[in-house]
Amino acid sequence: MGGAGRIERLEESVVNRIAAGEVIQRPVSAVKELVENSIDAGSRCINVVVKDGGMKLIQVSDDGHGIRHEDLPILCERHTTSKLRGVEDLESIKSMGFRGEALASIAYVGHVTVTTITEGQLHGYKVSYRDGVMEHPPKPCAAVKGTQVLVEDLFYNMVARRKMLLNNDDYSKIVDLLSRFAVHHIGIAFSCRKHGAARPDVHSIPTPSRLDSIRSVYGLSVADNLIKVHHSHSHTPTSSLFELDGFISNSNYLAKKTTLLLFINDRLVECTALKRALEIVYAATLPKASKPFVYMSLVLPSHHVDVNVHPTKKEVSLLNQELIIEKIQSAVESTLRTSNDARMFQEQT
Ligand code: ADP
Ligand code: MG
Repeated sequence: MGGAGRIERLEESVVNRIAAGEVIQRPVSAVKELVENSIDAGSRCINVVVKDGGMKLIQVSDDGHGIRHEDLPILCERHTTSKLRGVEDLESIKSMGFRGEALASIAYVGHVTVTTITEGQLHGYKVSYRDGVMEHPPKPCAAVKGTQVLVEDLFYNMVARRKMLLNNDDYSKIVDLLSRFAVHHIGIAFSCRKHGAARPDVHSIPTPSRLDSIRSVYGLSVADNLIKVHHSHSHTPTSSLFELDGFISNSNYLAKKTTLLLFINDRLVECTALKRALEIVYAATLPKASKPFVYMSLVLPSHHVDVNVHPTKKEVSLLNQELIIEKIQSAVESTLRTSNDARMFQEQT
């Protein structure tokens, strides 16, 4: 490079394209955002259809509260949301989304068409977006309850990304994602299928039982070998530091890889430190050391979890993380030991 170059401000459209590519890194990130929007909309039924690993088409249909007609013009603009009004809400936010970036990002890197109807309306509206803006006024159309978002030709305007992803199908990642959602959100019916396929690859029905939902998604070989785990740890008598509910595999479960379905305050997250900690407990407690299957839902006071990390950072940061992990380890260990002792006792008598 020669001398110092002149610094210029990038055009907004360039800034938006760069930001969008960060938020939506691959088809599965778009599916996650769309499904979380459907969950936030109070849906009871969410159906996902995918073509070419999501590169050609992603369609998410729900029966949620829909989007108001007057909101459609700004729906896909950056930082437009119905979920957050001010900074004071950030600490207590209950919805999955709040930054109003997902639909905008998707609409900058793909073609988005939304069909939606709100309660009490006689017809719905259909509208397409390009680079965040409506391509035409919303067209009245027939619609059933809820919203359908169709994303076509993802990364059509990002040649290198498109090439990389076309050789690297996301479908199994999408199935894995929907499986996790289905286990946690037991009141919602989820389905996920390939476009044109007769049978869905994920299919859950609403059930009051977590174990039933695990059985329907992960099968008998997992569900038959699980133990319930519960723990609640109090800081002071009045405020609990965290509450844990879950299912963990017993000594009959065999797997080469750890499966950890982790939800913190109902958000699907990843926590490598916790995963390692669980593996250590299993290796130490169960002699035939299989890698565990663990579904875990943690409830923490919301001011102990920082939700305002970058949307792609699935890794969470918790206050008192080491203490929490230690408590979880000992809860899991004693649950495992108790169940193992009971089994040994049964086998001996
Ligand atoms: P965020 O979820 O952070 O608010 P999004 O870009 O994902 O941002 O969505 C923007 C807004 O669009 C949401 O706040 C919500 O009001 C509306 N919306 C998006 N998807 C749906 C849906 N499936 N059902 C109802 N409203 C939706
Ligand atoms: Mg969202």
